[in-house]
Amino acid sequence: MTDGPTYGFDTLQIHAGAKPDPATGARQTPIYQTTAYVFRDADHAAALFNLQEVGFIYSRLTNPTVAVLQERIATLEGGVGAVCCSSGHAAQIMALFPLMGPGKNIIASTRLYGGTVTQFSQTIKRFGWSCKFVDFDDVEAVKAAVDDDTRAIFGEAIANPGGYIMDVRSIADVADAAGVPLIIDNTTATPYLCRPIEHGATLVVHSTTKYLTGNGTVTGGCIVDSGKFDWSANDKFPSLSQPEPAYHGLKFHETFGPLAFTFHGIAIGLRDLGMTMNPQAAHYTLMGTETLSLRMERHVENATKIAKWLEADARVDYVTYAGLESSPYFERVKTVCPKGAGGLFTFAVKGGYDSCVKLVNALEIFSHVANLGDTRSLIIHSASTTHRQLSAEQQVAAGAGANVVRVSIGTEDANDLIADLDQALTKATS
Ligand SMILES: *Cc1c(COP(=O)(O)O)cnc(C)c1O
Repeated sequence: MTDGPTYGFDTLQIHAGAKPDPATGARQTPIYQTTAYVFRDADHAAALFNLQEVGFIYSRLTNPTVAVLQERIATLEGGVGAVCCSSGHAAQIMALFPLMGPGKNIIASTRLYGGTVTQFSQTIKRFGWSCKFVDFDDVEAVKAAVDDDTRAIFGEAIANPGGYIMDVRSIADVADAAGVPLIIDNTTATPYLCRPIEHGATLVVHSTTKYLTGNGTVTGGCIVDSGKFDWSANDKFPSLSQPEPAYHGLKFHETFGPLAFTFHGIAIGLRDLGMTMNPQAAHYTLMGTETLSLRMERHVENATKIAKWLEADARVDYVTYAGLESSPYFERVKTVCPKGAGGLFTFAVKGGYDSCVKLVNALEIFSHVANLGDTRSLIIHSASTTHRQLSAEQQVAAGAGANVVRVSIGTEDANDLIADLDQALTKATS
């Protein structure tokens, strides 16, 4: 179901990429639990290894269950292709890998998932890569940060830990002018709320661990390519535009056109970095995508109701949810995420660090976990956990100060969640 008429999102999230199993007629996508695939003959094997024919060789590179998920996420995002991998963090490395080289840099938003800040500020240095963090509301500062060695710009549509909405279009314009791709981490928005490619993004990365799977069962990641970037327009991306020594001199852009990035991600990225998604994980995530829009609608409805209740409560200092009129992003969210501001936000508790810790301990329905995008409501005190590695200034810049807790609102009964917050706030602030 790939070249039919333009189906709606609710149809595509169930059917895109999938068809009844050709061998058995199985309606649900089977879990192809196999490492390797028998070649028809020696010529078939040679054609597959030469990338002259697309097919299955070995599950580090491709697997039929994973392939269905790749096509489904690519379709939901409006991209031409996607590569799934073992986690969201793997997806970020896989997205940067064909673009970067020693001495090259990326420009990233100051408002990012804590783990991404650590990956970009520390770990990528081991590859000789570096990152400049810039406030993405200051478009002039983003422009000024671009230099000859910049190879990508990276931000989150709805930034973790919540409340910030990125003006994707204005940063896409900077990336276009600089001749580099804009990469959007769309984990917290999902393609149901935001489609970054429509706002000018070149690549979209996901932690499928979160809303796409939706029930906290498996880790996974995905890189979606818009197919719109001209990798040969300048000499910045030799892995894609020039003969690639890691694939006997193949020129990916010349050979695969708009699918160059996707083919490179499989033929070089998965082959040599090995950050492969397993078919079981793909199965769970396929199950999740089938109900994505239904869950996101409820996440947004519950988050809006609870954010309003918290904002009116005297024990709370402020709430950062872009669905609230008090938010500086209330107007922006209507363009970037027309179906709502997501299920993630932070609020500041009167009494600071100690009250936050007490609140987290006193909640009964909310689980205290380092995760988001589950059907269950989750809470975390970022400053003492996910954002612990950051300096106090970085914590504040990331919206994760000591007096702030982050909630990922689930799909339970909103009144039950409010009652739980009410009793726990009493214990936390009395
Ligand atoms: C969780 C998360 C990641 C990292 O994904 P993993 O699957 O945990 O590796 C990256 N970005 C955002 C916004 C996330 O929420």
